[in-house]
Amino acid sequence: MGDLTRNFSSREFTCRHCGRLRLDPALLAGLQALRDRTGVPIDVTSGYRCSDHPVEREKPRPGYHSLGMAADIIIRRHTLREMYEAAEGIPAFSAGGIGIYDGGFIHVDVRTARSRWGRVKGKYVSIEEAAAALFKH
Ligand SMILES: [Zn+2]
Repeated sequence: MGDLTRNFSSREFTCRHCGRLRLDPALLAGLQALRDRTGVPIDVTSGYRCSDHPVEREKPRPGYHSLGMAADIIIRRHTLREMYEAAEGIPAFSAGGIGIYDGGFIHVDVRTARSRWGRVKGKYVSIEEAAAALFKH
């Protein structure tokens, strides 16, 4: 039982750098819908990241994690392909951003424009290229 929803707690989303929290309700609702649909636990590997978080400082400008609109997640007992397909089934993510990563997790965000990408061996690539490299089964 989480303190935010049935399955999610605020501590899962706080910035690992400073401990603060910013969280878009649409992101939380989308994640709970994804949890309900898949029926398995979802691990949030990165939620809110303030602009001083080391990952954000590497970027030209802070991204959706810094707006509380994005999470990196692992859906247990799912392959990367299954995680991607499950996220596509949630309207807020389908209409927003989904990225697949060779670290074995996906990124979901609730931006209001469709965006897809992957990251393979440290490089950002098209979703097609990433799927070819990472969807092995
Ligand atoms: Zn921070």
